[in-house]
Amino acid sequence: MDQGRIIKVAGPLVVASNMQNAKIYDVVKVSDKKLMGEVIEMRGDEASIQVYEETSGIGVGEPVYLTGEPLSVELGPGLIQSIYDGVQRPLEKIQEVAGDLITRGIELPGLSRDKVWEFKATRKAGDKVQEGDIIGTVKETVLVDHKIMVPPGINGVIKKIEDGNYKVTDVVAVIESDDGKDVEITLMQRWPVRKPRPYIEKLSPDEPLATGQRVIDAFFPISKGGTACVPGPFGSGKTVVQHQLAKWADAQIIVYVGCGERGNEMTDVLMEFPELKDPHSGEPLMLRTILIANTSNMPVAAREASVYTGITIAEYYRDMGYSVALMADSTSRWAEAMREMSGRLEEMPGEEGYPAYMGTRIAEFYERAGKVRTLGSDNRIGALSAIGAVSPPGGDLSDPVVQATLRVVKVFWSLEDKLAYRRHFPAISWLTSYSLYVPNLEKYFETKLGRIWLENINRAMSILQQEAELEEIVRLVGLDALSPENRLVMETAKSIREDFLHQNAFHEIDTYTSYDKMSKMMEIIMLFHDLAEDALKNNVSIIDISELPVREKIARMKFIPENRIEEFDSLKNEIERSFKELKEKVIAEA
Ligand code: ADP
Repeated sequence: MDQGRIIKVAGPLVVASNMQNAKIYDVVKVSDKKLMGEVIEMRGDEASIQVYEETSGIGVGEPVYLTGEPLSVELGPGLIQSIYDGVQRPLEKIQEVAGDLITRGIELPGLSRDKVWEFKATRKAGDKVQEGDIIGTVKETVLVDHKIMVPPGINGVIKKIEDGNYKVTDVVAVIESDDGKDVEITLMQRWPVRKPRPYIEKLSPDEPLATGQRVIDAFFPISKGGTACVPGPFGSGKTVVQHQLAKWADAQIIVYVGCGERGNEMTDVLMEFPELKDPHSGEPLMLRTILIANTSNMPVAAREASVYTGITIAEYYRDMGYSVALMADSTSRWAEAMREMSGRLEEMPGEEGYPAYMGTRIAEFYERAGKVRTLGSDNRIGALSAIGAVSPPGGDLSDPVVQATLRVVKVFWSLEDKLAYRRHFPAISWLTSYSLYVPNLEKYFETKLGRIWLENINRAMSILQQEAELEEIVRLVGLDALSPENRLVMETAKSIREDFLHQNAFHEIDTYTSYDKMSKMMEIIMLFHDLAEDALKNNVSIIDISELPVREKIARMKFIPENRIEEFDSLKNEIERSFKELKEKVIAEA
């Protein structure tokens, strides 16, 4: 094995000489403890190495072993349900080997070498196949069929393929490639994490990733394959939002990358996620989830690896034709790790000490999301949606990490602690959040829910914005100074906020709302508004309108179960009847 010599150790940064055979991003093993590191800079024969394990006790003169390979992950059955560290070592196994403290230099494969999987071939000997083609499946969990694909770069004819029970390293098929070589296909492939996995083409985002969360789906939808950013001031409901997305987002696979600052932040996730149930199947959510966790006893540099490990695994399931949702929490911690390494490399610092390339790295990460036509001849479509939490110090949105993220993501769910204090949950601000996917999704919504949905959403948003302006006036001169029309705007805005946007994640029915139900709810609110406007013109007082008993039923419509959606029709009738009676009363009194 080629080897260099350490000439400097500075925290997670090790510099070694005699490294002329190393390449940037190659994995190296540092010292005889075999600590895992990655070359991040080359100058002549000197390499700067980012070490993913604690470097204390490592000194000048010790060896550095080259592997000649970039940092890679193992992709195959067994990923689902795993809890990995940033370099894809299974945390449970580490614990078995080393007890509670992660001892250093432990080498553990990402996929179990002992576990046996039942492989069912879907292609046969003699079939011509190309890269990305599915040649068989493995039931990975009750929720996930793992597709075994021809790895990128391989095209040819299947020489041999057999059903049976295999370990991930066993050969399940042999392909005679176009250049005449026999290629053995195992259940497992390896892929370098910094290299995006190939696909045929990126498709435009034209379908929403339904989340069942009304404020998101109605006002700030993310598309399948889209990108979103959610800042998380403490106590604003970030964890609840993330759990709700993991549970309800219309995705078959969930990848959760945790770069927590404090050890217990991550422990929460590790304790809570395995408890969550998949609401559709009733099975544990973990049966379609992969967790990547940076525990507090790993150095910050490992956060960087965990982000890449996570997105690569997510791309792999996308390639199978699945809708995958990746959540990274928090990307600010990753950026801080970049800052620390950059400082140690004595690079020229950019804004607030972050390296100048931080923005590029963040952009490259989100660019790996998307809806794509995957490799393979069957025109599969897969989607990888990426949702990143950011945690700017003091919730300050001018923070460079937030700004760099907002430049690339298309959706911003602005969690505000102000709303959380008022117990308005989800505390996503309707005034500062945005989704740039709305124009792309219009056609989908129009086909599925009709033009009326788009009109209602626009009207509702405009009413909420008017409310914000009117609130200023009310603060100065009081509610009574408003015209009846403006008071109605305030009433309707309140109804949109309380009867529609408010959503209790812990209520069995309210926790999830389908697009169908959402559109009915919106129709009810708008119907009330239109009839009230008309009533005002007929001299009905705003007080009488706001005191209509049917308001109580509107407030409770969120609890109408999905399978009793026809109840909205009777509610509609009742609203119409109520206004008719009000008008008749005014005429009678006149
Ligand atoms: P954070 O992770 O931002 O510190 P949490 O997600 O833990 O905050 O939320 C704090 C508390 O806010 C929760 O314990 C819960 O009581 C309340 N909460 C947040 N979101 C919702 C929601 N959608 N429905 C009901 N309660 C919520």
